[in-house]
Amino acid sequence: AEQWQSVPLAPPDSIFKLTAAYKEDTFGKKINLGVGAYRDDNSKPWVLPVVKEATRILLQDESLDHEYLPITGLPEFTAAAAKLILGSDSPAIAENRVSSVQTISGTGANHLGALFLSRFYQWGSAEKKVWLSNPTWANHQAIFKNVDIAPVDYPYYDPKTIGLDFEGFVGALKNAPERSVFLLHACAHNPTGVDPTPEQWATIADVFLAKKHFAFLDCAYQGFASGDLDNDARAVRFFVEKGVSLLICQSFAKNAGLYGERVGALHVVSTSKEAATRVKSQLSVLQRSEISNPPTHGARIVSLILNNPNMFEMWKRDIATMANRIIDMRKELFRLLTEELHTPGDWKHIVNQIGMFSFTGITPAQSKALIDDAHIYLTANGRISMAGLNSHNIKYFAESLDRVVR
Ligand code: PLP
Repeated sequence: AEQWQSVPLAPPDSIFKLTAAYKEDTFGKKINLGVGAYRDDNSKPWVLPVVKEATRILLQDESLDHEYLPITGLPEFTAAAAKLILGSDSPAIAENRVSSVQTISGTGANHLGALFLSRFYQWGSAEKKVWLSNPTWANHQAIFKNVDIAPVDYPYYDPKTIGLDFEGFVGALKNAPERSVFLLHACAHNPTGVDPTPEQWATIADVFLAKKHFAFLDCAYQGFASGDLDNDARAVRFFVEKGVSLLICQSFAKNAGLYGERVGALHVVSTSKEAATRVKSQLSVLQRSEISNPPTHGARIVSLILNNPNMFEMWKRDIATMANRIIDMRKELFRLLTEELHTPGDWKHIVNQIGMFSFTGITPAQSKALIDDAHIYLTANGRISMAGLNSHNIKYFAESLDRVVR
């Protein structure tokens, strides 16, 4: 018999499928709003000027070689990355309570964090479960299933308000058994663009403490959301300050435009230096068996940027350039729909949502009509990547959206 007879053919990844369809389309005004990567005003990928500068410096550095990094990564990178997310004055860092490991971008941080929990979290006799927002980044389910943790949903998005179902969310936190693991998007929730307010975060943290829940914080968009690194880290820092048990998955894909370089980190915050030492030792063992050691190039770039004050300032400007372009697109789309086209519906959510994505609130049929009739590619749930819009195509998009919702 044939060797792989029982292997079923897997369906293609829906986002990659969408991109392939877009590429094949020969229509001049076609738009790709599926892609989760930043594009400039000419629809082109953008290499950050600070990354170009860092690359130039690395190329000239004769002392660099291609030896293996330590198992837990480039120490100058992980130390600076921890400060970036937790704050340079973080007591947790000062008290050596943070175990940081360089990972294969945010996906790798999610995986290593999930694997660590699967092995070492105090599950007791309970089934291994993780609570995920409904909806969430599609990869979350698969990442946890891979390490035998069952994903379950908590209410998050309310289609009626195109906003947060705060009561449903808090209700789920209160009703879950004590010490449950909840995954939270630290900022710029993917796919909805809907985040809790600071007051809501405070309530959420209180319930975490009361129920002794564990927060699995996924932070893929620090700085990219509001344009301000500290602002986007507020929820994470607040949870740490309050003493919620947690870990943080950090990605430099979006905020440094280093998608393919796979630069990220996992930070586990413990209550003591001793615990942090033990945690780090086990993370190191897991990492060794998974990837031996992480890649050098991207970590060197980010390390240069984070550890050099001038380059750090340059980076902040680059981040603001990306975030502000996206915020401008939100404002312009809102203006076109409400003031120029008088499109039926309340489009306030377009400007209230944050980050790369916007949930437009349109139906799967309307999304399909945008693809079929207007050559505008987006996922069936009505999510659009704001980065796909620019000064050249936004009018065509607004007019097409207006047509499908009328
Ligand atoms: N987590 C969320 C919520 C994301 O949206 C993404 C990227 O889209 C990631 C993690 C990880 O991305 P990467 O592995 O490219 O850092």
